Amino acid sequence: MRFAIVHSKLLPDKLLHSSQKTYPISSIDQIPVLQINPNYSYNIELQQQLSGKQLLLDDLTFPLEEIQEHYEQGHLIYRKGIHVEKNKPICTRCGNQDNLFFAHYPCARCGEKCLYCRKCIMMGRISACTPLISWTGPAAQVEMNRTQLSWNGSLSYGQQAASERVIQAINENKELLVWAVCGAGKTEVLFQGIDAALASGKRVCLATPRTDVVLELTPRLKNVFPHIQVASLYGGSEDRHLNAPLSITTTHQLLRFYRAFDTVILDEVDAFPYSVEESLQYAVSQARKQSSSMIYLTATPNEKWQAECLHGKKDFVTIPARYHRHPLPVPRFQWCGNWEKGLKKNRLPPNILQWVKKRLDTSKQCLLFIPKIDKMEKILPLIRLLHPKIEAVHAEDPHRKEKVLAMRNKKIPMLLTTTILERGVTFPNIDVAVLGAEDRIFTESALVQIAGRVGRSAQAPGGDITFFHYGKTNAMIRAKNQILKMNEEARKKGLIDY
Ligand SMILES: [Zn+2]
Ligand SMILES: [Zn+2]
Repeated sequence: MRFAIVHSKLLPDKLLHSSQKTYPISSIDQIPVLQINPNYSYNIELQQQLSGKQLLLDDLTFPLEEIQEHYEQGHLIYRKGIHVEKNKPICTRCGNQDNLFFAHYPCARCGEKCLYCRKCIMMGRISACTPLISWTGPAAQVEMNRTQLSWNGSLSYGQQAASERVIQAINENKELLVWAVCGAGKTEVLFQGIDAALASGKRVCLATPRTDVVLELTPRLKNVFPHIQVASLYGGSEDRHLNAPLSITTTHQLLRFYRAFDTVILDEVDAFPYSVEESLQYAVSQARKQSSSMIYLTATPNEKWQAECLHGKKDFVTIPARYHRHPLPVPRFQWCGNWEKGLKKNRLPPNILQWVKKRLDTSKQCLLFIPKIDKMEKILPLIRLLHPKIEAVHAEDPHRKEKVLAMRNKKIPMLLTTTILERGVTFPNIDVAVLGAEDRIFTESALVQIAGRVGRSAQAPGGDITFFHYGKTNAMIRAKNQILKMNEEARKKGLIDY
């Protein structure tokens, strides 16, 4: 699409009746923003679809004439899909500024070789001639029945303290990091804060990187807040146009929002490498209202954030102990030699074989983490010599869900896994080992998460966690220290009994 500027207004070429020079939107220096006409009777359906969003024309089901009229009456704005800062293109929707993720294509809409963003292409192509449309009229009414938290559980002391800080941050529109150890019960810590937000008419968004988690959290939160609408947003979900007081969304879907939420809760901030995290931060900053609160949840903040906490530069609260008041199992380090070399001769390190045998003999279920899929495929037949029912899973495994279920139902004694099972899954009573803990994929945060799989239930709060390695890494040492520190803090605060 191309625009002309007529009487200090943007006018799409399709609605232009005179021969006037037209431009792709990104080539227009200053996009005119028009005064809002308070007497305009706007289309309520358009308001519902667009309020708090940043959408493409293709996302909207209204004729261009009607959209243009709302623009001229000051009820929506066109923004450049791609803008340029210091001679560098930046995608306005996803914040991408990496040249590798931009490309040119012959564009039928503007008739030029048009620059587009490859990074967010799965949300519909955004190019130099694409207007990104947002609502500037009166905000859509969000159905706010007086909420009532319907939850009978109780919080541990650690959870209660964190919950109070969450409420405070939400009330004061501040940022807070909740640093809760694996198995602390972080979701419950949010309930009262969300309730407080909803009670004061705030719109809340709970964002998490993974669709699985959205699907798991949605029924839980619907149960806890039975009187309000809860939108569940992920690729292909049907709640896309819902203006709900509480939205549970993948971080990806946040890219469609613009100044929508008074409170954003971001779960598992650390689950990604830093570059992805950066685009995540961008998506969040777009989706928040200018005055809003932000709650980050994690068991394993990255090094930078840990340092900021330590130096008082970031507001945070820890939940250093698990709900069941037992300490976190501390990893043991065991050198296992050049296991990759041995593997070429179909040999596994003897101490690993011993570790596995001991679990099989005593019928204790276990997980063995392996850094790479190809290594895992070589190891599986070797380990199966010990027990034929041992299985292996990785991210692309079509039977992943069945295998995890079989493990949960104790149909199989042991799973080999890549980092795919490092978080999100709970088996009540298992031991865990890492083979090749020195591999780069095992970051401090991955290792803390992996150790966090052990001893989660009150019935079996202990268990063994061993890092088999061919040379200790900083990540291993930092992970162990982090766990020791949390246990120490929990003891000091009286959150551990054992
Ligand atoms: Zn983009
Ligand atoms: Zn174009």
